[in-house]
Amino acid sequence: MTLRIFRNTLLVGAVAILACSILFLGVMYYNVERMAFYRLQTEAEHMAAGISAYGDGYLQKISPASRVTLVAADGTVIFDSVADASKMDSHLWREEVREALEQGSGQSIRLSNTLLENTFYYSILLDDGRVLRVAATQDSVISMSAAAALPLLAAVFLVLTLSGVLASRLARDITKPIYDLAVEKSDTAVEYPELRPLVDSLREQKRTIRAQMDELSRRQREFAAITENMSEGFILVDNKRAILSGNRSGMDAISARGLGDEKTISRVRCRAEICDAVDRALAGEREEVLFDAGGRTIQAIASPVVSNGQVTGAVLLAMDVTEREQREALRREFTANVSHELKTPLTSISGFAELLKEGFVPPEKVREFATDIYTESRRLINLIDDMLKLSRLDENAPVPEREPVDLFELSDEILENLRPAAEKRSIHLHLTGEHVKVMGVWSILNEIIYNLCDNAIKYNKDGGSVTVHVEHAGGEARLSVSDTGIGIPYSSQRRVFERFYRVEKSHSRGVGGTGLGLSIVKHGAQYHGARLEFESEPGQGSKFTIVFPSECIVETTNEEG
Ligand code: ADP
Repeated sequence: MTLRIFRNTLLVGAVAILACSILFLGVMYYNVERMAFYRLQTEAEHMAAGISAYGDGYLQKISPASRVTLVAADGTVIFDSVADASKMDSHLWREEVREALEQGSGQSIRLSNTLLENTFYYSILLDDGRVLRVAATQDSVISMSAAAALPLLAAVFLVLTLSGVLASRLARDITKPIYDLAVEKSDTAVEYPELRPLVDSLREQKRTIRAQMDELSRRQREFAAITENMSEGFILVDNKRAILSGNRSGMDAISARGLGDEKTISRVRCRAEICDAVDRALAGEREEVLFDAGGRTIQAIASPVVSNGQVTGAVLLAMDVTEREQREALRREFTANVSHELKTPLTSISGFAELLKEGFVPPEKVREFATDIYTESRRLINLIDDMLKLSRLDENAPVPEREPVDLFELSDEILENLRPAAEKRSIHLHLTGEHVKVMGVWSILNEIIYNLCDNAIKYNKDGGSVTVHVEHAGGEARLSVSDTGIGIPYSSQRRVFERFYRVEKSHSRGVGGTGLGLSIVKHGAQYHGARLEFESEPGQGSKFTIVFPSECIVETTNEEG
């Protein structure tokens, strides 16, 4: 804008000075011309008066400043003060002579050969019909202009410089208030009232834009907060597989982090399963893939994004389905195990029963067979009981209200129940520690302690010992069951809490184990928010400890057992 104002002002100045110069020169030349003719006219009239008074000889006597020519009525030159009249051709058709002959006087201007001079002619008709012409030479307009050029140029330069300075100041003065215009400050005065509607509309637009920007960034923050906190990953790609948007989980899932500017799901940088799924989605199909990523199972669903019937991109959802898959695998395994565990005693029962039915069993053996059938049925019942207990713990089915349970007392009861079985193998049972009451479900706690003590006896050596110790230590209630039994091989220690896992199947079966005891212990402890600690030395014995957190503890009474 400044430049424009400056340029236009300068242009106006230049045009003005040029127009003035031309006008000045024109007026000056017009005046010079008028003066010249006036002088010639006066001179001609004087001479005409002289000729009429003194005859043609008058012309020879005077020495005029101008050239004087006397022309006869037929155009013949009678006298010329500069040239030889006899050698001059007829002047009848000279403009000024013709005019004088016709109108009494005439004038004309003719340019000299060099164009630098003009010759002015003035003719007057004498009383005797002849024409007296006076001529004088003057500078032409060109030479006058040339003479005036230098001062004129100096003036032009001066004027242009001045107008340049003025133009620049003017431009600055005009634009300064516009530059200083603070649109964002509504209380700022607008120096040019003409600008007020523009400024008002700018302010209005600015307010609208700011409101829209605020709304947009709020939505963006909301969207980011939702997507970033989603455990599911999502990625949006265009039809060239460039990532348009996505959350952290999505980026992790496709391993696209650190792609930099490229951000393209390329085969090199992204796992092949994802690329294939995205390609299928871009081809208009919905694709689901399951893959393993760093020990986690990821399910990715790629769906096409369709706009106006055209696939414009794809959206990829990635979910960590590790737990689901693990549960599914466990369920499958459990079903297979249950079927197997149920089938074994049932096959025995059905075999024994068939032999009895067919009469293949001698009478003295019938009792033995009936005992086998009874034992296998008991095993079946135990197994089903254990499975029911586990499923109740699994489903978090409603269980009796929690109540204060004295762990010491409960352990004592359980050991008493197990004493006959222990005595059969000369195993000594001990209970030590203090009375600690915890808030819990009696039936579950009973199950936990029973299973641990039962195992400690089952997997003990004849003449060994089992010690149950209850204590309140370090703000926690600890119940440990230790034995001097066979211990658990190191390779199996990690798996003993799995359902149906048994170190030695035949031994477990022989002692009436179902393979679910420790699973029930684990889930029962979890139910109470208790921690399970376990250590075992093969050939030396094992120790299982349940650690109840302080919030479970109700009361403690010291009593050494
Ligand atoms: P089971 O019904 O077979 O006893 P558990 O789940 O109670 O099943 O135990 C799983 C396996 O862990 C057992 O088969 C046994 O091999 C081993 N085990 C459990 N407790 C002990 C222990 N106190 N000493 C040695 N081995 C044990």
